[in-house]
Amino acid sequence: MTQTQDYVVVATAKDGGILAYAATTRHLVDELQRRHDTWPVVTAALGRVATMGALLTAGLKHPQHEITLQVQGGGPIGKIVVVATGLGTVKGYVDEPHLDFPLNEFGKLDVKRAVGQEGFLYVLKDLGLQEPYRGSVPIVSGEIGEDFTYYFAVSEQTPSAVATGVLVAPELSVLAAGGLLLQVLPDAAEEVIAAVEKGIAELPQVTNLLVQGEDPETMLRRVLGEDVKILSRHPVAFSCSCSRERLGRVLLSLGKQELTDLLEEQGHAELVCHFCSERYLFDGEELRVLRDSARY
Ligand code: ZN
Repeated sequence: MTQTQDYVVVATAKDGGILAYAATTRHLVDELQRRHDTWPVVTAALGRVATMGALLTAGLKHPQHEITLQVQGGGPIGKIVVVATGLGTVKGYVDEPHLDFPLNEFGKLDVKRAVGQEGFLYVLKDLGLQEPYRGSVPIVSGEIGEDFTYYFAVSEQTPSAVATGVLVAPELSVLAAGGLLLQVLPDAAEEVIAAVEKGIAELPQVTNLLVQGEDPETMLRRVLGEDVKILSRHPVAFSCSCSRERLGRVLLSLGKQELTDLLEEQGHAELVCHFCSERYLFDGEELRVLRDSARY
């Protein structure tokens, strides 16, 4: 049995020593797969980063707050970009959706090979302050989960444990996706940290639990024991903020000369949104209006 709606739960455990997030993201990752026509190893890579984005939406205090995650490991997938907002929306894309490798030594999709291990993980948080927060760490694993664990430890000085998983069906659709993020709060005892590490190590693959019909709340109890206190539950879903108006402004920014060239050479313009693959066609008449309203 699978959940009809993706969501994230926020909880505390170990007498408030741990802040925990758990998510089921099958619908989100399935939508990304269909929109970008990703092949399985790419679905897994993009889906893991998107699941991380989904988990982080629950910590945003305002609908307009936004987090951008960018993984650039030098591998054949190119960039993986995910944007998550305080409204619970997540969108994302990769440079190369069509990759196919043999399974790795554990019989799993070889995400590390697609992502690469020579590059950086970037996090940009726009929390409505004058300057956005920027953090980055070198890619240490390419499997995504460990890379975020390293990011939280080094860049945010928060000992954390991250587990994410995506299970892809042979016909490319997504059977299960989800993740866990456990953060040890300041002043937590050593044994709390040890318990988190042990819980994660013993956690059966996140996706197995989700396939077996377990919900995020149950996943948390498996890892942290019965004293988990659920604080809140947040829906998450794919959504893109693009529009004709927005892409019209992109065209306008090309300027009078380029718009004139475009009109003469092609007679129309077609723009595709990176994040959702929506196509926007501007015909000759619309291009002329844009050109005439361009100031230079
Ligand atoms: Zn879009």
